[in-house]
Amino acid sequence: LGKSEDGVVISRFGQHVDIQSEHGEIFRCNIRRTVDSLVTGDEVLWRRGQESHSGIKGVVEAVQSRRSELSRPDYYDGLKTIAANIDQVIIVSALKPDFSSDMIDRYLVAIENSHLKPVILLNKIDLLDDTLRPQISSILEQYQSLGYQTLYASSKTEHGLDALNEQLRGQTSIFVGQSGVGKSSLVNMLLPQVCAQTQEVSDNSGLGQHTTTAARLYPLADGGRLIDSPGIREFSLWHLECDEVTYGFRELRQLQGHCKFRDCKHQNDPGCAFVEAVKKGDVSQWRYQSYLRILQSMIEKRPARHIPP
Ligand code: GDP
Ligand code: ZN
Repeated sequence: LGKSEDGVVISRFGQHVDIQSEHGEIFRCNIRRTVDSLVTGDEVLWRRGQESHSGIKGVVEAVQSRRSELSRPDYYDGLKTIAANIDQVIIVSALKPDFSSDMIDRYLVAIENSHLKPVILLNKIDLLDDTLRPQISSILEQYQSLGYQTLYASSKTEHGLDALNEQLRGQTSIFVGQSGVGKSSLVNMLLPQVCAQTQEVSDNSGLGQHTTTAARLYPLADGGRLIDSPGIREFSLWHLECDEVTYGFRELRQLQGHCKFRDCKHQNDPGCAFVEAVKKGDVSQWRYQSYLRILQSMIEKRPARHIPP
């Protein structure tokens, strides 16, 4: 075995991981039994070894502590970590199929509760005409005033590509958003070499089918990293509690506990600090309504826990 080197987990396949060395090469490795669990984005110490006939070229010996984790509810395991060390989550929205600030708010709640940094990106701005522009930009300005960064882009015209590259530089990012908003188009624009890379990995492993479902890390031209997979692009909220939904609304979070009654539902209850804040204009009416709709939809749609599909 060679000397210990730094690496980052590109993707995990059962008992094996692909790791990227500091020089950008990819090595398939075994995992020491003493190493806890490994997910895409984990920073590791590993050693090169002699290549086995199954293509294993090294062994992962230790994992560094994680800066952040992205988890998803799992029927069997409760919360399951699917990626580590993500710095920012880019919420992609678009005018088509339809622009929905409710959907942006749902993602914000999930991301705030994961203690990750959200960035709001409006894609397909080539479709923005003079009738839509004032309305949409006013909504994005309100997100800005809550402290969220916003970006405009078009994967069709490549408008906004420079600003997006700037935002991704030196960071580990993921894109999330509804189907059809243009996430794949954005990823393809940023990573024209992705298809070739996926091919390369599946060829020598015979595990090609796993590459489509597992989260995978891609190095970006400017030193950043993108973690992507079809599964990672969607969050669900059903595992969150009502208090966590409140936490997901920055402007409501600070009012938590200020209502007259402890069990305040923040609707028609007397002495509700949320309603007061809306009346005073400190909290916008549309964000408050969105908050109530998320709470309502959680009560309606929450599936029974721990029942396998
Ligand atoms: P995903 O489901 O979020 O991955 O979305 P896709 O990348 O598959 O894009 C969905 C559709 O939107 C496709 O028909 C794309 O051609 C189209 N699309 C993507 N980006 C843009 C854009 O910037 N402008 C316009 N007009 N269409 C786009
Ligand atoms: Zn209240």
